[in-house]
Amino acid sequence: MSLYDFACEYCEGVVRERIVEREPISHHRGIVVLENVPVGLCDRCGARYYAAPVLKRVESILAKPKPPARTIEVPVEAY
Ligand SMILES: [Zn+2]
Repeated sequence: MSLYDFACEYCEGVVRERIVEREPISHHRGIVVLENVPVGLCDRCGARYYAAPVLKRVESILAKPKPPARTIEVPVEAY
């Protein structure tokens, strides 16, 4: 089942699913580039839509904690 196939919000066109090799998707937290992502594309005006599972994926990637700036090695020995 397609995530899309609904009427475009901006024109009379229909939003069709297209698998895009590399799609930058912006979210309120930042931008993520997803590979082989199903994007909704209006067949008339070309407006782009992202289905809820796609945005959820972007959100989960951006929600990951950043790696620490520095790590230190600490020697451990038995007494
Ligand atoms: Zn449209």
